[in-house]
Amino acid sequence: METITIPYLTGDGVGTEVTPAMITVVNAAVRAAYGDERRIAWQEIHDIEEFRPHKVGIKGPLTTPVGSGIRSLNVALRQALDLYVCLRPVRWYAGVHSPLLHPERVNMTVFRENTEDIYAGIEWEAGTPEAQKFYRFLHNEMGVNKVRFPETSAFGVKPVSREGTERLVRAACRYAIEHALPTVTLVHKGNIMKFTEGGFKRWGYELAERDFADELKSGKLTINDCIADAFLQNTLLKPETYSVIATLNLNGDYISDQLAAMVGGIGIAPGANINYNTGHAIFEATHGTAPDIAGKDIVNPCSIILSAVMMLEYLGWKEAGVLIEHALEHSFQEGYATADLARFMPNGHVLSTSQFAAQLAERITH
Ligand code: NAD
Repeated sequence: METITIPYLTGDGVGTEVTPAMITVVNAAVRAAYGDERRIAWQEIHDIEEFRPHKVGIKGPLTTPVGSGIRSLNVALRQALDLYVCLRPVRWYAGVHSPLLHPERVNMTVFRENTEDIYAGIEWEAGTPEAQKFYRFLHNEMGVNKVRFPETSAFGVKPVSREGTERLVRAACRYAIEHALPTVTLVHKGNIMKFTEGGFKRWGYELAERDFADELKSGKLTINDCIADAFLQNTLLKPETYSVIATLNLNGDYISDQLAAMVGGIGIAPGANINYNTGHAIFEATHGTAPDIAGKDIVNPCSIILSAVMMLEYLGWKEAGVLIEHALEHSFQEGYATADLARFMPNGHVLSTSQFAAQLAERITH
């Protein structure tokens, strides 16, 4: 018997409901797909540092502490393991309510850069000695005279590097080739921010032409680019144009949530943070701890369940993931879902979180 140990962090709030639901469904799928040949040994952990010795893990949502100087555990985890890709696949399941006329045309995978950009946290509050010092440096040493209100300006720095861009775009291109997807689109604001966002676009093209010359020549891979604002419009007007998206951190934040809303909202959007060089990959629910509904057994567990499907694929246990996806498809088509989705379904049957997980496990088993 092949046993893989998977560390998991239950998370706060609704984490205590969605995480056990996910484990129930995954165990049923692994048993149905592999019988006695494969098994997951789940190891509960209580601190993100405990992920480190393992390559692959999964987590529920964590409360972000409020207050200055306290780092979010999510951000700390990404930084500690240098998880440079935030991977967010977006597809629609028949039966799920969508604001689009043709949600079936949405099938995209977003590679969001996770370690650079304005998210690096290099900023100074308006009116502080640091902000004034930074302004004096800009003005006196760099000859910058474009700051409209220097006395009351806050400042932030946006680092974007060739190395950071290359590893992100390389991962996106490899994913497109491995999954036989037609294009990688570099989404950027290079028309305005010529050296940071424009650098991302230029380095992205150069990397693809250097590392994937054969695939580009044979037509196995196509790379193009789109300005972020036009891209957001196009995702609504002609979503079928896009398959794999590579983008910087801030654009990726907006894009991932818009795309999630187009196919059913954050309750169903999966995600992972990955370092393809070390192999570290932490799969996660993309929603928060939902304190308003915690403890009521009504939360939708699909986000973490679909993240587990991504994890199974990453582990090479694809068959088990496919069983879960099929069970979800059938469940939604028949209108069985948690309240957030079932209330929009014409044939909707509202199930609690635990009932929903149990009926998925039942569908997988029989
Ligand atoms: P949230 O995602 O927790 O909730 C936003 C709204 O969506 C709420 O009305 C909630 O009930 C609903 N919702 C969220 N997930 C749902 C699901 N699976 N099924 C049904 N409804 C769902 O966002 P928030 O309220 O802004 O944040 C609450 C806490 O979670 C904060 O501490 C925040 O920092 C944290 N958070 C953590 C993560 C993470 O760990 N990855 C992500 C986002 C927010």
